[in-house]
Amino acid sequence: MKKKFALHWQILIAIILAVIYGISFPNQYKVDLDAYKKIISNEENVRFSNIQILTIENLIGEEAVSEDEIIRLITAKSDLKLSLEQKNIILKYTLYNPEIKYISWMGTVFLKALKMIIIPLILMSIISGIANIGSAGNLGRLGLKTILYYLMTSTAAILTGLFFVNIIKPGKGIDKSFIDVSDIPSVSQHSFSDTLLNIIPENIFVAFTQNQMLSIIFFAILFGFFITKISSKSRIVLTDLFNAGFEVMMKITTFIIKLTPFGVFGLVAKTVADQSDRLINLMHVLGIYSLTVLAALAFHAFVVLPLFLKFIAKVKPFAHLKAMQAALLTAFSTSSSGATLSLTMESVENNSGVSNKVSGFTLPLGATVNMDGTALYEAVAALFIAQAYGYDLTVTEQIVIVITALLASVGAAAVPMAGLIMISIILTAVDLPLAGIALILPVDRILDMFRTSVNVWSDSCGAVIIAKSEGEKLKV
Ligand code: ASP
Repeated sequence: MKKKFALHWQILIAIILAVIYGISFPNQYKVDLDAYKKIISNEENVRFSNIQILTIENLIGEEAVSEDEIIRLITAKSDLKLSLEQKNIILKYTLYNPEIKYISWMGTVFLKALKMIIIPLILMSIISGIANIGSAGNLGRLGLKTILYYLMTSTAAILTGLFFVNIIKPGKGIDKSFIDVSDIPSVSQHSFSDTLLNIIPENIFVAFTQNQMLSIIFFAILFGFFITKISSKSRIVLTDLFNAGFEVMMKITTFIIKLTPFGVFGLVAKTVADQSDRLINLMHVLGIYSLTVLAALAFHAFVVLPLFLKFIAKVKPFAHLKAMQAALLTAFSTSSSGATLSLTMESVENNSGVSNKVSGFTLPLGATVNMDGTALYEAVAALFIAQAYGYDLTVTEQIVIVITALLASVGAAAVPMAGLIMISIILTAVDLPLAGIALILPVDRILDMFRTSVNVWSDSCGAVIIAKSEGEKLKV
């Protein structure tokens, strides 16, 4: 049979082309009549003053300009500062980038398809996985190993991050003048006990519609577990039913995966076009910070986790890395471990040879709670902000950071930029100014791509290590 052009190469080429495309067509902004009408009668009910409206009206018909330029034109003429909401409304409705529009729909379709299958996939995989595990003893053992692995690797990741940020000190002497405090995203905080209580859903359908993953996982674990407790006739029917359902979901997954290169092209090109303006401006300011994050992530991904693979699971780390390429590149492009989950499962099972019993349990849980990249990022970001503000954190405070970073990574949703929001928890815990978030905001979206890949990589390593400890014979 003729060997097909491997998927990970297709994805890689799509990413490269997308970057070129995105850089060639950076976002522009233009006021036309339609944009003007939408701005003044916006759905978000953000009000503009008469003079602002007049200035915007005067811009109708002008050429498309860059993001900075449109804001400058409006504020210079009307001599009024725009609030963050006003700014966002203007940018949203005046965005003019036809070239990106031609292709960004591919990314939207792909992301929607991935999101569509998350909940049924998690449900089927956990229920069938647990029903197949059988006894409570087996489940307890597997659960314990999984949690132990998450704790160990996430802590290792945080320590790696702290090590790098303490050595490189990217925040020392940074120019904070460009911080715009009004840019800080608003955060809603839950206490840790609330988070635990919220795992039990009041209404499972609400959990489904609101994507409350931990609640869905909790329900699925209960359901799967009690399948093993019913009469053998019903047990066999239900186990077969969910096994079959899982097979269907995997088939749908394989089908969607074929679209990955197109989806990735659309997504990455749009991200690059959205960010290019900001990136070039801020490269010199935030370059060292980004490099610190990247170096620490690389160390964790290419040194620490492979050591776990080699010495605990006794598998070939590189072979497993190769097996995971398509999933890792998709994690990179989507910045969402949740959206990547289906690919992660497919790669771990088909390429690395982990049984569905193990992957069906560890991966959905891992995608939601095990985020090494995010944990590392939280620690580096908090320390960076501390350095930028000239705070010297004591060892005790750094220990608080380790613990809160761990909790923040568990609590972060598996969606783009979730980690950024969680940093507020750490900053609050060690009394650092929340305004510091604005400092790292501009490069967060790009760094998110890398940390998400590390999150998925760690989940996959966990599945391999646990499968091996259960005596499975793997392909890596
Ligand atoms: N985007 C990350 C993920 O999905 C979470 C984060 O923002 O750190 O894994």
